[in-house]
Amino acid sequence: MDLTKIRNIGIMAHIDAGKTTVTERILYFTGRTYKIGEVHEGTAVMDYLQEEQERGITITSAATTCPWKGYSINLIDTPGHVDFTIEVERSLRVLDGAVAVFDGSEGVQAQSETVWRQAEKYNVPRICFINKMDKLGADFEMAVDSIRERLHVTPVTLHLPIGSQDSFVGFVDLLDMKAYIFDEDKVGTKYTEVEIPADMRDDAELYRTEMIEVAADFDETLMEKYLAEVDLSREEIIVGLRKGTLNCEIFPVLCGSALRSIGSRKVLDAVTELLPSPLDRPEIIAYKPGDSKKTPVKVKCDPGGPLVGLAFKIASDAHGDLTYVRLYSGSLKPGERVLNVTRDKKENITKLFHMHANSRQALEKTCAGDIIAVVGLKDTYTGDTICLTKSPLLLDSIEIPVAVISQSIEPRTAGERLKLAQALEILKREDPSFHAQYNEDTGQTLISGMGELHLEIIQHKLTRDMKVDVLIGKPRVAYKETVTKKAVGEAKFEHQTGGRGQYGHVILSVEPYETDDHENTIIIEDNTTGGVIPKEFMPAVFEGIKDSTLNGNLAGYPCSNIKISVTGGSFHQVDSSDIAFQQAASMAFRDAMGKATAVLMEPIMTLEVSTPESFYGSVQGDLTRKRAEITETEQRGQSRVIHAKVPLAEMFGYASELRGATQGRAGYSMQPDSYARVPEQISAKLVEDAY
Ligand code: GDP
Repeated sequence: MDLTKIRNIGIMAHIDAGKTTVTERILYFTGRTYKIGEVHEGTAVMDYLQEEQERGITITSAATTCPWKGYSINLIDTPGHVDFTIEVERSLRVLDGAVAVFDGSEGVQAQSETVWRQAEKYNVPRICFINKMDKLGADFEMAVDSIRERLHVTPVTLHLPIGSQDSFVGFVDLLDMKAYIFDEDKVGTKYTEVEIPADMRDDAELYRTEMIEVAADFDETLMEKYLAEVDLSREEIIVGLRKGTLNCEIFPVLCGSALRSIGSRKVLDAVTELLPSPLDRPEIIAYKPGDSKKTPVKVKCDPGGPLVGLAFKIASDAHGDLTYVRLYSGSLKPGERVLNVTRDKKENITKLFHMHANSRQALEKTCAGDIIAVVGLKDTYTGDTICLTKSPLLLDSIEIPVAVISQSIEPRTAGERLKLAQALEILKREDPSFHAQYNEDTGQTLISGMGELHLEIIQHKLTRDMKVDVLIGKPRVAYKETVTKKAVGEAKFEHQTGGRGQYGHVILSVEPYETDDHENTIIIEDNTTGGVIPKEFMPAVFEGIKDSTLNGNLAGYPCSNIKISVTGGSFHQVDSSDIAFQQAASMAFRDAMGKATAVLMEPIMTLEVSTPESFYGSVQGDLTRKRAEITETEQRGQSRVIHAKVPLAEMFGYASELRGATQGRAGYSMQPDSYARVPEQISAKLVEDAY
């Protein structure tokens, strides 16, 4: 495998900018599909989930391998909606370069800015595609200016559109100084190469000179030739542009209309010519397992090196679980035994595939730099590192945000309970930012996730793809209950009504418990001595406590950050049973919680609002009323950017509120940050509402 010929890329965009359509065209022109699928007809290949077809937005990141002119392009689909941060983050972790798609009539939009910033965080080189040049209102210059002004970067124009809106027919390629005119034909697969139209020649010369100046900045030989006024070849200009692009100092801009297939092939050329191969990316940092100091070990992209791979996505389909893995070093064959270093579990690689939306191609071998789907991994989850047993290394896991919104869910008929539980298990494995917790007392399951849309989509997946009929409650903020001091609780569960009775007796304590591990915030310990509660009943005691932590006794929210210690109790030779101890433990826990000054905790979000100066005052005032703590404000081009921490409870409906208050000119992005105590007054109201 020639590593210089691999491109791991993603397409990023604001919803509706045309990411799915661009992807479709890429699949078509690389020969992966035989029919052009169109989003508005609901046949797009990448959007194979019914949900996505109906909404016309892309939710799942599927990795697809496409061949182009001797290169192998692994295309990782990156969703644009803020509710799917986890999907965007995990894609950005594993890709080497990206194509940012913009709507030619809108330029940079709020979410394109959000994903752009995420890509910045990972230093991902990008090229820009100004799409929808055929659309009413399309304006190439405006779009390029918005990249410069809103994203504060240097765009470099490689194409000039010929005509605009209705009259858009093609583009001038400034690299080869040729014009490409496309057929009227809707799918635009045919085009002719012609001379640059006379009225565009001056502009073309001007933009070409600008492009060459920029390219020359990154390469000395080019600069010498440029200064000596020697003509530069296409290949020479590419060398300079490529260097600048790989450093994230310049962002080449192309244009077209994906719908009419104008410019899509040039996007593929630009991906191979201007975006990095795995060898062009910096070494990644790993650690030795168990090294608490986390001394960095640099891992080079080397097929001969020790095996290091990162599992970044689990997908279940009719054939079983597929684990998507990015290999950073070493090689891999089907049949090999590997170590999941994160979980210290041995795993078998049964099969390796390159994926194409929903079909697959089996591989005999793969190596560093590639992205593959693996069958056979049983205990591997998103963010886990795969190595060989003899050379274990750990990569940083993929950060999974805390779930901040929850809803109750139950099967419509009791007969579907098991089916629902199994379906939720599958969804949890696929999506680590989704959680589901069953509560035996209420017979309800609480699902939680990143936002309203996230849970709505989960619900539709359940009902349509998995065919489970469910009843679902209103979305609500995922409050939590915790304690502020230590307290002891005690309870006896006793029934003696002739015949065999019931007897269980438990003493326990609860106390605040600090942890960073937001998956495991409740700890239960057995600290009894002298067999006051026989060992055989201890699981029942734990069970009783655990169940009770699902619904705290303040307002019924799940408990969090509590350490529970079982310290005493008693039993009866004949009458004690699991049930009796479970009941007693549950009652003792509630007794202790009642004395330990329980409080409510709420999710706090980090918020970034970008607003024109003229609306700054009102946006800021509104945030203050929303209990926001403003941490920083900065000037970014024409905009003021406010950084703040704000309770999620205040942010329902903020998108439309902000749009209304700023004539649609401000944008924001929001991420879960932490949990904090709910102020007294608000807490009192929540408790009151709960009953
Ligand atoms: P995504 O949400 O970014 O994946 O965007 P889609 O690819 O789903 O496109 C959103 C809508 O814009 C669909 O109705 C497309 O048919 C339409 N669209 C995509 N590309 C173009 C284009 O080049 N020109 C025009 N006029 N419409 C387009």
